[in-house]
Amino acid sequence: MNVLVLNSGSSSLKFQLIATDRERIQKNADERICRGEVERIGGEAIVTAESEKSPRQKFTAPLADLSAALEYLIRWIASEESGISQVQSAADIHAVGHRVVHGGEMFSESAIITDEVLKGIEDCIDLAPLHNPNNIKCIRAARQILGPKVPQVAVFDTAFHHSLPERAYLYALPYHLYRRHHIRRYGFHGTSHRYVAYRYRVLRNLTREQTHVITLHLGNGCSAAAIRGGYPVDTSMGMTPLEGLVMGTRSGDIDPAIVNLIATKEGLSPHEVEMLLNTQSGLLGISGLTNDMRVLQQELKDHDDRRVRLAIEVFCYRARKYIGAFLACMGGADAVVFTGGIGENSTDIRARICTGLEWAGLKLDKNRNEHAIGKEAQISTDDSNLKAFVIPTDEELLIARDTVRCIAGEPHPS
Ligand code: AMP
Repeated sequence: MNVLVLNSGSSSLKFQLIATDRERIQKNADERICRGEVERIGGEAIVTAESEKSPRQKFTAPLADLSAALEYLIRWIASEESGISQVQSAADIHAVGHRVVHGGEMFSESAIITDEVLKGIEDCIDLAPLHNPNNIKCIRAARQILGPKVPQVAVFDTAFHHSLPERAYLYALPYHLYRRHHIRRYGFHGTSHRYVAYRYRVLRNLTREQTHVITLHLGNGCSAAAIRGGYPVDTSMGMTPLEGLVMGTRSGDIDPAIVNLIATKEGLSPHEVEMLLNTQSGLLGISGLTNDMRVLQQELKDHDDRRVRLAIEVFCYRARKYIGAFLACMGGADAVVFTGGIGENSTDIRARICTGLEWAGLKLDKNRNEHAIGKEAQISTDDSNLKAFVIPTDEELLIARDTVRCIAGEPHPS
């Protein structure tokens, strides 16, 4: 089955076409047919795409909205120019899996998109006003372009965290705010945390119940999850992806009183302050330079800039603080698992985070850490009580597999 995996943003559309089915899943033999991204939708859009058989292609096209972008993409996939032999026409796309950001309290797992499910995603718009509307547009566009007979599945960023106990998801606010407005912690990056926890247990030959890990997704967005017995018991992101770790442009945890203070002193509306916390803070805010960790590390090496150093220190300190807190929350863990662009590739950031966790039994193996770049590896010593692993995330693969399983009416084993 050729599954088109879509991750829609306000002006971008990431995609992958993956051939998978029950047999391929069992044999871990899914085939990545092509992948790419459409950026700057709304004007002269930039399309980048690559397939296993043809090199990276980059072109531009005037694409007014998500629907036009998707139509263009499907036409390109089916064209000779793409070199994709498995897809001769749109009819060779058998199903679509969508990354949907917020599933609220309603969705504890992936779901085939029916009118009722679509209404459920719409009901969560209040909780993710910047994200869910794009996901809905993309679902509608796919339905229109491919027809109602092509099954579509929603895979929610929040769903994996459904197992959080009340004590972890409830904010200490007047309880009626939870009742009236569903204000609580939901957690995000669920597909990524779920995937790396699954790969960890495959690598170590463990059952789900034996899986006790802290997963750290460190990319442009960053979050941690405390996973006990295979399911999260706590996570760092909250009602929105703003809470928790320091991120590329998001502040993570701050004293909520700061919002009003910034609004008053800087003459900003609450909405503008929220934007500032989401888009001008984090690594970018402290360094005053960039949200890109690679650039920051180069800058630190070349110029030892004070604010760059501070940004990196605050980033790593916060991550270490969460590991300590989660170890206490979950009564100890067997391993810390690093993933995301930074977690998978930056030996230095991993070392900085792990340094100071020796008390918890984590002994980093310098040599293993330095060789673990973008690949699955243990980076702690063999006698480390708290192990450390690098496991590259693969949300698209999980979305494609969930799509197959949902269509077959199977539960999701990973
Ligand atoms: P993601 O959102 O998962 O794509 O991650 C993006 C982040 O990963 C950016 O801050 C990148 O600078 C960072 N990143 C990617 N490769 C490296 C690397 N080799 N060293 C440090 N940071 C990296």
